[in-house]
Amino acid sequence: MRNLLYIDGAFVEPALGGFLEVVDPATEEPFAEIAAGTDADVDAAVQAARRAFDQGPWPRMPAASRAAILRRVATEIRDNLVHLAQLEVRDNGKPLKEARWDIGDAAFCFDYYADMAEQVEAEGETVVDVGDDRFVGRVRKEPLGVVGAITPWNFPLLMAVWKVAPALAAGCSIVLKPSEFCSLSCVELARYFHKAGLPPGVFNLVTGLGQQAGAPLSAHPGVDKLAFTGSQATGSQVMQTAARDIRSVSLELGGKSPFIVFADCDLDKAVEWIQFGVFWNQGQICSATSRLLVERPVHDALLARLKAAAERIVIGPGDLDGVQMGPIVSAVQHRRVMEGIAQGVASGARLVTGGGRPSYLTRGYFVEPTIFTDVPLDSWIWREEVFGPVLCIQSFDTEQEAIALANDSRFGLAGAVMSDDLERCDRVARALRAGVVWVNCSQPTFTQLPWGGYKASGIGRELGRNGYEAFLEVKQITSFDHRQDWNWYQSTGNP
Ligand code: NAD
Repeated sequence: MRNLLYIDGAFVEPALGGFLEVVDPATEEPFAEIAAGTDADVDAAVQAARRAFDQGPWPRMPAASRAAILRRVATEIRDNLVHLAQLEVRDNGKPLKEARWDIGDAAFCFDYYADMAEQVEAEGETVVDVGDDRFVGRVRKEPLGVVGAITPWNFPLLMAVWKVAPALAAGCSIVLKPSEFCSLSCVELARYFHKAGLPPGVFNLVTGLGQQAGAPLSAHPGVDKLAFTGSQATGSQVMQTAARDIRSVSLELGGKSPFIVFADCDLDKAVEWIQFGVFWNQGQICSATSRLLVERPVHDALLARLKAAAERIVIGPGDLDGVQMGPIVSAVQHRRVMEGIAQGVASGARLVTGGGRPSYLTRGYFVEPTIFTDVPLDSWIWREEVFGPVLCIQSFDTEQEAIALANDSRFGLAGAVMSDDLERCDRVARALRAGVVWVNCSQPTFTQLPWGGYKASGIGRELGRNGYEAFLEVKQITSFDHRQDWNWYQSTGNP
């Protein structure tokens, strides 16, 4: 099936007529095509978004009217949940159970930001006492403008919706460039916007390659803000491009997040959350708690249970009943994960389990859950993001040492701590230099809470109220009492 671009309220052919094959990672077979957008398509989309923002009704209509359309889109997503989840499985490889969860979250995100638009509008402007009766100071929030959103493939619809829902709720217009590896659910989203009666130009979709469609979007002078989720290398390029003419950016990048396990916790519960922290979504999670720090006395016992549990994970095509881990998203990414594992072996780390393709799966980009222990602290695999199902373990002796090891990373997206001593958990949670900290769990993510990283993991926050404010500008209006005189030039004293 051929999927077109969505620009200015219509599905259109790409200007140069190119299409890209979409490959099912479980079978390695192409099954669809997406339009290969280029500069001309990006330009048309940005111009449409510009017109919609500068002249159209969307930023000027009451929040309740915008909210009504967003709620219609939420309903549409829910009504098509199974279809969307199956599409995501075919496009990305993830197990159906996970895909259903993602799609439900995406629908909720629209409802949540529809409510927030109404709430923030009801709060109105803030009047500020400036200490001079002749002046009234007011602060108001206004939609930021045209947003260029560039998103990755690991949660294809959800990562896009984390930007699209708050941006549209706030009154912005948007051009979305999803990952070339997984764009299909975003094409469906365009259909739902169309059906819901979104004014033309408010939401535009340009699919295509990073260099051909993403780069021109990040360089386009008609874009007021770039909202990017992806790798550090691309994020840096997007930021440098935006810096040329000083445009706002938010960056959600990668991580190498730690999970600290103290000896006093229930080891079976620890196993459950450690697995979920690094094997869920085939380990293709920006916040994966991929560095496990274990208090030395329980290292061997925990390792034995982790090994047994990892070897029980059911691997296979994501649409098969009972499958708990699907394939890696693409051939390129599969090669990167295998190279990462080879680096781990070469570093002298001890490979405990996994490290290859399950012998019973001859096709598809599958990788076994992989565990290394005694991982050298200066090795590539300890310090860099693998973005696959690979867990690295080290032992520690004291709480201080665990915190120091956890924070010894240029990343700071997430971290987790597990202990029955809740005061200790709280101390560690405060000490971790990361934007997201989980206590006695890892990965559950709520739309209501801010999401984003410290250090090289990004700039800005998505989700929660912060994720809405990210699409607002702040304006002060200062009014002078027109019945008064200013008298600056008539007097020698202070006004
Ligand atoms: P990527 O950087 O390769 O691609 C991300 C997007 O950027 C894609 O749409 C791609 O087409 C586009 N792109 C590529 N080159 C570009 C360029 N020169 N200019 C503009 N756009 C360009 O990342 P990926 O492989 O799709 O995703 C994996 C990365 O995303 C990981 O590092 C992961 O940690 C990160 N991630 C972060 C979060 C978060 O919330 N912090 C969430 C999901 C993924």
